[in-house]
Amino acid sequence: MKKITIAIDGFSSCGKSTMAKDLAKEVGYIYIDSGAMYRAVTLYSIENNILDGDNINVDKLRKEMGNICITFHFNPETGRPDTYLNNVNVESKIRTMTVSSKVSLISALDFVREAMVAQQQAMGEKKGIVMDGRDIGTTVFPNAELKIFVTASAEIRAKRRFEELKAKGETANFEEILNNVKQRDYIDQHREISPLRKADDAILLDNSEMSIEQQRTWLLEQFQKKINETL
Ligand code: C5P
Repeated sequence: MKKITIAIDGFSSCGKSTMAKDLAKEVGYIYIDSGAMYRAVTLYSIENNILDGDNINVDKLRKEMGNICITFHFNPETGRPDTYLNNVNVESKIRTMTVSSKVSLISALDFVREAMVAQQQAMGEKKGIVMDGRDIGTTVFPNAELKIFVTASAEIRAKRRFEELKAKGETANFEEILNNVKQRDYIDQHREISPLRKADDAILLDNSEMSIEQQRTWLLEQFQKKINETL
């Protein structure tokens, strides 16, 4: 059967990854979490003294980009891919508040974006891919057959993130998470390169009032519609 490219963009913590992962599993496509790649570069920057508070040693990071190897390996226990940074599983480390609070600074750097976008485009060369992020429908795969732009209120997104962190046994502060969500929205929408915006041909989904199951069904319907159209 003909394979298509699926781009799922939207605001932070709006459930894009869950939708994207579930769809990929259901239809047998590759799933790539592009945010995990920016998070891995951020973790590398923290661990290698490139980031000091909000100051980035841009020259050092630029020189070291070639030393940063990000890969994904399927985890049979979770049924989902884990992120590896230089062959080390960093899936939990990249989801901490420490990384979340710095990632938008790192992802605004032109040379970081260029490197990530090139790798993402290479991963999607053969189609049959679901990728989620901020600029997938606008920059990475502007010709994707199916583009979705997901949104939900900042409070609802912060609540979901709060519950997710608590379920993992991590300490979580709702106000801190809400501020982080709002701050990332702002930086992601206002950065110079590939700011977060809905592609003109993307379908808008506000999932504030939807359950995971409802989203799953909705996305599968969009996929099937698109496949029928492109046959
Ligand atoms: O999707 P997630 O919230 O994990 O992404 C973390 C951060 O990575 C975002 O806030 C954004 O700054 C950056 N990002 C990006 N472009 C993407 C995916 C994520 O700039 N395609």
